[in-house]
Amino acid sequence: SRAKVFDQNTKVRTTFKDVAGLEGAKEEIQEIVEFLKNPDKFTKLGGKIPKGALLVGPPGTGKTLLAKAVAGEADVPFFSLSGSDFVEMFVGVGASRVRDLFKQAQTKSPSIIFIDEIDAIGRARGKNNITGGNDERENTLNQLLTEMDGFGTDTNVIVLAATNRADILDKALMRAGRFDRQIYVDLPDKNERFEIFEVHVKPLKLDKDVDLEFLSKQTPGFSGADIANVCNEAALVAARKDHTTVHHQDFLDAVDRIVGGLEKKNKIIT
Ligand code: ATP
Repeated sequence: SRAKVFDQNTKVRTTFKDVAGLEGAKEEIQEIVEFLKNPDKFTKLGGKIPKGALLVGPPGTGKTLLAKAVAGEADVPFFSLSGSDFVEMFVGVGASRVRDLFKQAQTKSPSIIFIDEIDAIGRARGKNNITGGNDERENTLNQLLTEMDGFGTDTNVIVLAATNRADILDKALMRAGRFDRQIYVDLPDKNERFEIFEVHVKPLKLDKDVDLEFLSKQTPGFSGADIANVCNEAALVAARKDHTTVHHQDFLDAVDRIVGGLEKKNKIIT
């Protein structure tokens, strides 16, 4: 809904501390934080800051979290929308939404615009399009390109977008002055999974038998979102068993459940 776009100017409390692992991505994006904190310092020196960066990686790896943390670290407003909101939208609505969003962000600049699932609007034009082009998705994409090009160098709005399909994006999006920077947000390795577990067990009452080292070894292929899920599920399992703390076995049960769920999901897809 339209209201959604305007409701989001609330203070962001997410910071890099909430984002476990992803050291490389954090390092790369730090420059954007520095810029948003003090844009004048950069522009006075004549430096050019990217207008946009693309966060690329599998689902649930923390792209949204990272984008939010940039806003939190820099203490600037965060405006977001999802590409999937634009699917099956009435003619003109998508483009006008994009226009409104950029106007808002500009008024509150320095600020961040985050576009999740940008592939939903940013798919290469002319493909999978039996009606022969100029559909609403295309209008929305064109508006987005127009807005990004319209930004002068004095505009302190940074546009971050997330996708797990950078390969299908319209090349026009990646052109200089648009999303000309890609930041990879990969699945966590064992050590990173350990760190993600540490973040997500914080609100839980843990038994001393819980072995996060073991759990991070047992969860190859899990995303950050999967691990957050495991931790929450473990607490539910513990409650069901009338435990007063969350035990190691509750985590193992939760892992089994999540693995079961993932297997089912994959079966449906293939
Ligand atoms: P999608 O591509 O599905 O939109 P995403 O990459 O944007 O996913 P997020 O929405 O940021 O993923 O992650 C979902 C949730 O998973 C987060 O809110 C957080 O709880 C947890 N999570 C994911 N990655 C991490 C991480 N690196 N550190 C801590 N928590 C994480």
